[in-house]
Amino acid sequence: MVMGDLVREVDVVVVGGGPGGYSAAFRCAELGLETVVVDAGKRLGGACLFEGCIPSKALLHVAAVLGEAERAKEFGVDFGPARVSLDPLRKWKSERVIARLARGLVGVARSKGVEVVGGRGVFEDARTVRVEGDEPQALKFRHVIVATGSAPARLRGVEPSERVMDSTAALEVPEVPERLLVVGGGYIGLELGQVYAALGSKVSLVEMTDGLLPGVDRDLVQPLARRCEKLFVNIRLQTKVTGLRETSGGVEVRLGDETLLFDRVLVAVGRRAQTQGLGLETTRVRANERGIIGVDDRCRTDDQRIYAVGDVTGEPMLAHRAMRQGRIAAEAMAGRPVAFDNVAVPAVVFTDPEIAWCGLTEAEAQRTSRPVKVAKFQWAASGRAATLGRSDGLTKILAHPDSGRIVGVGIVGPGAGELIAEAALAIEAALTAEDLAATIHTHPTLSETLMEAAEHLLH
Ligand code: FAD
Ligand code: NAD
Repeated sequence: MVMGDLVREVDVVVVGGGPGGYSAAFRCAELGLETVVVDAGKRLGGACLFEGCIPSKALLHVAAVLGEAERAKEFGVDFGPARVSLDPLRKWKSERVIARLARGLVGVARSKGVEVVGGRGVFEDARTVRVEGDEPQALKFRHVIVATGSAPARLRGVEPSERVMDSTAALEVPEVPERLLVVGGGYIGLELGQVYAALGSKVSLVEMTDGLLPGVDRDLVQPLARRCEKLFVNIRLQTKVTGLRETSGGVEVRLGDETLLFDRVLVAVGRRAQTQGLGLETTRVRANERGIIGVDDRCRTDDQRIYAVGDVTGEPMLAHRAMRQGRIAAEAMAGRPVAFDNVAVPAVVFTDPEIAWCGLTEAEAQRTSRPVKVAKFQWAASGRAATLGRSDGLTKILAHPDSGRIVGVGIVGPGAGELIAEAALAIEAALTAEDLAATIHTHPTLSETLMEAAEHLLH
């Protein structure tokens, strides 16, 4: 500590103001704990609000509007060629969407009495976080929550540049490149690949494994893969970038035996936990070789006073998981009997079509020899899907063969991300296929596909 630094004592310090950090801080304050959030950008929202979930979903909404306008030609409505102006688009995303939500979080923090300090938090010892930056001070805490999140992983030997973008840069939509290469066929590669394709880029995608979205149920991925084959000019599986060189004309990329030229490249090969330089070595907290902090079911680390939530605790790196963990950590340190005992962490890929799943997957059931009964309901038989011109969806339910308990659900199709909430509730509440089948679902809606799939399980 530097002589003359301000030293304060507080109940709880939260390092990182993303969804994990702010959810924890808000709950701590509700429980009567004096709480200070230290955030490098002196703002609440983290990657989710400023460079993740929210900007990407805003851009995907634009892509969906463009896609719907194109589809409308099928029923005789032609809006003519779309003209996209990037300045108003960026302004809408930044001011009407992100800034508005950011102001909302500032208001919530104020109303709950949560203080936000700007600067990098670094552990000085297991009782003190030093804040480096414009508001230098030492915060002595009774408890601390590490919620420093994650950052884009890089391709080995490839530095980001104007033309070689990570997701943060791509979300700024600096331009619509004529030829865009997306490296990585995961969440970000597919979501942002579809955004740029809708805006007019010729998108090529390389994925090192043998399929898009590795690990996700193939029945769900197939309709999305078919759509991507139409939207993208090229998809190469089992391919890795083996060389990349910027020239005056663009970026030369070596893919297998070929060298191809692109105007820009988007690297979307995963995210890494942000624990480097945090000073964890001054505590008993242990991070693994990938920087991920191990926690128990109360989000407690190996050091009893130190909790960790969100991406920094590893997969699945999703905002809603971070938020749930944040609340659990807060309640645990306030002495409440809580645990992260959720059975299902739903996941959604917000592409066209959307993919959503929760609970057990068929592949996982096979791998772990868990007996399941599977029902698939094709949306070709859904009245609502027909009225939307989207009969390409599928709803799939996995249930225990004896008890009928629903253990997993997967959905592909427009709106899958909203529909999965019912499935998550069914799994958490230990409902059976019979419960779902006997619940009256409004007609005609896509939610009926859950009821229909459940009915199949009864026969
Ligand atoms: P973060 O949101 O990463 O926040 C960490 C905060 O800590 C940041 O503000 C950072 O500046 C700060 N920080 C880091 N180190 C320090 C330090 N030493 N001192 C002080 N402050 C520090 N998830 C979904 O669930 N749905 C989606 O649709 C979705 N879309 C995404 C799209 C993209 C393009 C990306 C990149 C991610 C997306 N995610 C999505 C993932 C989601 O953004 C993360 O899971 C979520 O933000 C994790 O929250 P967190 O609180 O753990 O950390
Ligand atoms: P990801 O793990 O989803 O996908 C990365 C992909 O890149 C994988 O398919 C992987 O096989 C591939 N890959 C890795 N190295 C490669 C290489 N050298 N060459 C070619 N392919 C390579 O990661 P992401 O898309 O970067 O997203 C990061 C995380 O952010 C996600 O895992 C998710 O947790 C979160 N996220 C969530 C959402 C959402 O919830 N809708 C959206 C975006 C991001």
